[in-house]
Amino acid sequence: MTNVPEIYGSLVFNESTMRERLPKATYKQLMETIKEGAPLAPEVANVVAHAMKEWAIEKGATHYTHWFQPLSGITSEKHDAFVDPTSDGHAIMTFSGKELIQGEPDASSFPSGGLRATFEARGYTAWDPTSFAFIKDDVLCIPTAFCSYTGEALDKKTPLLRSMKAIETQARRVLALFGEEDAGRVVANVGAEQEYFLISEKDYERRMDLMLTGRTLFGYSPCKGQELEEHYFGAIRPTVSAYMKELDDELWMLGVPAKTKHNEVAPAQHELAPIYSEANRGIDENLLTMEKMRLLASRYGLVCLQHEKPFEGVNGSGKHNNWSISAGSKNLLDPGEHPMDNLRFLVFLAGVVQAVDDYQELLRMTVASAGNDHRLGANEAPPAIISMFLGDELGAVVNALIEGRDYSEADRVSMDLGVSVLPNFQKDNTDRNRTSPFAFTGNKFEFRMPGSAVNLSDANMVLNTAMAKSLKDFADALEGKTGDEFVQAAWDYVKQTLRDHERIIFNGNGYSAEWEEEAARRGLANHKTTADALPCFVAPKSIELFEEFGVLSESEVRSRYEVKLEKYNKLINIEARVMRRMMRRLYLPAISAYAAKVADHITAVKTAMPAANTSAQEAQLARIMDGLNDAQEKFDALAAKHKEITAIDDAQAAANANAHELLPLMESLRETVDNLEILVPDSDWPVPSYNEILFYA
Ligand code: ADP
Ligand code: MG
Repeated sequence: MTNVPEIYGSLVFNESTMRERLPKATYKQLMETIKEGAPLAPEVANVVAHAMKEWAIEKGATHYTHWFQPLSGITSEKHDAFVDPTSDGHAIMTFSGKELIQGEPDASSFPSGGLRATFEARGYTAWDPTSFAFIKDDVLCIPTAFCSYTGEALDKKTPLLRSMKAIETQARRVLALFGEEDAGRVVANVGAEQEYFLISEKDYERRMDLMLTGRTLFGYSPCKGQELEEHYFGAIRPTVSAYMKELDDELWMLGVPAKTKHNEVAPAQHELAPIYSEANRGIDENLLTMEKMRLLASRYGLVCLQHEKPFEGVNGSGKHNNWSISAGSKNLLDPGEHPMDNLRFLVFLAGVVQAVDDYQELLRMTVASAGNDHRLGANEAPPAIISMFLGDELGAVVNALIEGRDYSEADRVSMDLGVSVLPNFQKDNTDRNRTSPFAFTGNKFEFRMPGSAVNLSDANMVLNTAMAKSLKDFADALEGKTGDEFVQAAWDYVKQTLRDHERIIFNGNGYSAEWEEEAARRGLANHKTTADALPCFVAPKSIELFEEFGVLSESEVRSRYEVKLEKYNKLINIEARVMRRMMRRLYLPAISAYAAKVADHITAVKTAMPAANTSAQEAQLARIMDGLNDAQEKFDALAAKHKEITAIDDAQAAANANAHELLPLMESLRETVDNLEILVPDSDWPVPSYNEILFYA
């Protein structure tokens, strides 16, 4: 059994390692940078680099890399050896302060949305000392930000860090009004619950669609789906359990606080939840978790699927983004025992309500992707409409405030299970509403729209910036007021804000059709596809917000929008190509061969017994031939449309056509082929079925 305290963080150059390994003065200076954002002197970097290298070599590292998150969202690394040959034919291991703080990857092959023309291909990576360095696969990984020669952010991390700064600055102003100048550092926290599928490698290798697009483009629903509700929290298969144990160990060594693991709703689906961290670390940790999940699976003959919708007909995978703001050790979203008396909490709560309502489209945009489009609104994940759930107690508080009524605190109910040996406990102040995209869950908000594959930086960048805006509005309005005058004005402000944004609060069933109608009446946005969701990124209102808080410049916004559009179009293009290839090379030949087989059988029977009644076989053959012809027709229509779209120059126009013209054709073709799948025996079908893939031993 693993000795967890012993291995935990053993591969991380964390605070305690730094204290142990760095000269006192250097440690102190570095901590000032990490904790208070003080600039780092070059001498300090040299000393830190040396200590880091010595530590890494002791742990077996031979290389180092700047570890960063280009706009593709996945992490990137280029390994450089510490090796430095000497003139006498030997080598020493070196690593300088300059190599620690700055890197210069040839950046021309990363997406930049036009920010960096190829003639200025230079890009820089810069050390983020607030995220600890760690060793992965004998490589010292240094978390960095990535920017262009002209200083524009080319990564996911930089704007996130800027948004954390923005929320801190504005929250401090609000705290000061409450006399809490010394509340400590203000940070946004993130806990990312990661869902994923594990399937067997041998099935995976026979599915070109899974291998190239991450999802099955064809496949009839399994005989058994998730209707028995036996998989969720069910006992874990031994192989999967061994995999999860090793995953935990590896993550713990990297200082990733993996906490909860369980089977999810769909067959072969699982979840891992960590303990939350500061947003930038939480996201780094989530990316590391995803990487480890993928790499470890092969040791168990498994493949880890992180696509949002690998299989039709069973749930897809999400990544719930648990988000809160804290000051020092205080959680500013904690309502305490008596929310109605907690004015500071209500100011922050109203701030979130305002932020989510005002920037609902922007939030929706951050989770838009080709994969997630199959999930949102599919009766398993929140709809594409953003709304907020506050729960009974807080909902009642907010209603009373909106209506200007007195609020009588409902008695907190103590749960008595009627069995004396079981402890009695207090009910939570929020029930669970699984259908809400943005739910208050006790002392944090849970944003449930992100898909399993997404890098959460964008979502948190928007959340933080929108919240910074709410807090700024409050501070601008109330600064200068003190004492009773401040308190009265703050109450009025909270009430007015909640009244202005009441439409975003919805406590009912977010999956129902009535909600879609009701939401339309309330004027809430409902962008069903990525093509529809992306344009709001470049709307004047969004650009103003990002510029006001120095989170993104207009050109950075526009380039990001381009990158997202391009990625969407490329993915759909790959899916269409794979679909066409599979049709031509696998499905059409297999169906036609099977039809010939049935025809041969009929001939054989007729030859042996001219008077035989072969109507059943003939009907079977007719069904297959009808399906085959139908499939061929749809295949031709798809090919024509695909060709037409690849000729469209304008990326938004191409995205619109992909979403509203090509994808429906792909779905319709799939349906025809899936209906043929159940007419053809397994032995004659060219790929493994859902039954085989999802219910392995
Ligand atoms: P569930 O969503 O299944 O009810 P929990 O409420 O226990 O699970 O927590 C889910 C996730 O929320 C975990 O990753 C946890 O660390 C994170 N979390 C808990 N408290 C906070 C907080 N104050 N801020 C951000 N994330 C939090
Ligand atoms: Mg959750």
